[in-house]
Amino acid sequence: MKGIFIMYLKNMRNSKESIMERFEEWTIRKRKLDDLNPYKFAREINIDENEAIYFFKELETEGYLIGYIICDCPACGNECYVEHYNIDNLYECEECEELINIRNLRKKDVSYSINKEMLVNGIKKCVNPIELMLEEHNEKVIRIDRNKGVDSIKGKIKTKDEGVIKMERKSTRIFISHSEKDKVIVRKLIRLLHDIGIPKQKEFIFCSSYEGYNVPPGEDISEYIRKEFDENILVIFMLSENFYNSPACLCEMGAVWVKTKKHIPLLIPPFQFKEIKGFLNSNTRGIHINKSEGLDSFSKKITEEFNLPNIDITIWGNDKRDFLEDIKNLLEG
Ligand SMILES: [Zn+2]
Repeated sequence: MKGIFIMYLKNMRNSKESIMERFEEWTIRKRKLDDLNPYKFAREINIDENEAIYFFKELETEGYLIGYIICDCPACGNECYVEHYNIDNLYECEECEELINIRNLRKKDVSYSINKEMLVNGIKKCVNPIELMLEEHNEKVIRIDRNKGVDSIKGKIKTKDEGVIKMERKSTRIFISHSEKDKVIVRKLIRLLHDIGIPKQKEFIFCSSYEGYNVPPGEDISEYIRKEFDENILVIFMLSENFYNSPACLCEMGAVWVKTKKHIPLLIPPFQFKEIKGFLNSNTRGIHINKSEGLDSFSKKITEEFNLPNIDITIWGNDKRDFLEDIKNLLEG
């Protein structure tokens, strides 16, 4: 034990503060909040690998970073990112949905993501940079001042305690973030949400392409999002090539991502998990819109979030079948 400790000390040539500074610069330069690799970091800023590993682990312990091990799924070979603190020892492959015992996985590499909750909710010691695309289409970097903590970004971002209405349901509203070009599929999704039990009232859904669920006349959408949205909004990202090709969608994703906590990426085929990028990453759990099992877990999640009564299993089966058929026709047509 003592030997290991001395080895650590030997390697710690730089103070934590000086590494932290370079870590911030590195994440801003790379414009990356996820897939951060300590070995690459060590090489790029020219410090000892052990020092970088120790630094990343420390930030993980403090909650700034979420650590992942990278493994290949034994069933389909897909690259899986498994959280270090996965408690139940089981991991569901996002590609083939196989349940894998984590102990049977062979570690290939490690990866870290910046813990967004620490940034948005403003734990006192928060020093990491937030990279945001807040204002219109201009990309913008907001730094949290080391000493003032989250106070330094007050007014720019709504923090946890502001504007939270106490409700029995966990989520207050659903926001459907999508490309204008996918609006026909979005209409089907809204129908499915009603089938699941979401009331047909504008207090429950926000969707820019659906009359009645969109921005009130005369209001600007980004202003509306800033004003109305808090972390209790459940965001459904309708991911497709159209979505990623739209600067407006990407800008909206950035703004919404930082204000909200719960996200469900729905993938519109042929869009694949591995194509997910930007604020969302391939670690984010997503659901293929045309897969029956995915829709079951989607329905379960919505039911839980909005404290809805359970649907009769036969009725849900019919609703789901209709939806899948509609989607199939739309995708083929
Ligand atoms: Zn798999």
